[in-house]
Amino acid sequence: MKLNIINAGHFRLDGGSMFGIVPKSIWGKACPSDIDNRIELAANCLLIQTDDRNIIIDTGLGNKQNEKFFGHYNWDKNSLGLEKGLWNNGLTPNDITDVFHTHLHFDHCGGAIKRDENDSLIPTFPNATYWLSKKHLEWALNPNDKEKGSFLKENISPISTLDSLKFVEEGHDLPFEIITVNGHTESQILPLINCNGHKLIFAADLLPTTSHIPMPYVMSYDINPLLTIEEKKKWFETALIEECIFILGHDPYSECCTLRIENGKYKMNDAGKIKDFI
Ligand SMILES: [Zn+2]
Repeated sequence: MKLNIINAGHFRLDGGSMFGIVPKSIWGKACPSDIDNRIELAANCLLIQTDDRNIIIDTGLGNKQNEKFFGHYNWDKNSLGLEKGLWNNGLTPNDITDVFHTHLHFDHCGGAIKRDENDSLIPTFPNATYWLSKKHLEWALNPNDKEKGSFLKENISPISTLDSLKFVEEGHDLPFEIITVNGHTESQILPLINCNGHKLIFAADLLPTTSHIPMPYVMSYDINPLLTIEEKKKWFETALIEECIFILGHDPYSECCTLRIENGKYKMNDAGKIKDFI
């Protein structure tokens, strides 16, 4: 098995929203913000290659929305980060066999659907099976008022009607285990990968950056912050016992990190590129 991080591009979100109750006088030291109080983030995707499969985990923001929408997030829709990342690995979108979405917030699934020359919405990866949590799709199709702005219909409708859509709850043959967490959104699904003796968790929005390691650092986007804290504790403890590496969904500087515990508090042990860890 081969693992490579594909950075689909960089974007920015409000620093206050990213750190919940933590005041800017504290988070601002580690994460500089721009004039609009936004901090730099990456849309990190993961390419998993086995003998017969090329699997992409999450697909970034894509390029379907207009300049005004992307302006809020400082996203360069022409950056082609996902495609370039595939080219760097000798692949095109046609070579992708499986697309796995941790969840359907626009910064995780926007790249899965594109506009063709007639402005129709079509799958970016025409030969791929698309994998989702059925429970999460139902949640996204009937969005609550808090998350409505993250579940864009130009993503959700075409994905939900794909012939190649499969639900992990109905069984799967993917080469990894699946963890379900519910604090950030209903049924976020995270791959737990066993790669050549190393265990890795693609942490998506359970642990978006290394700055989110301390327990109170929970995004205000989360639907149930106390549950996120419970889930962080559970998976941080497991990671320590089983020597797991976390792959970070949004860290602009580090692809992965490991943890240690010091005086009862979790701290970053090491962080860097995936090739430094496996
Ligand atoms: Zn999310």
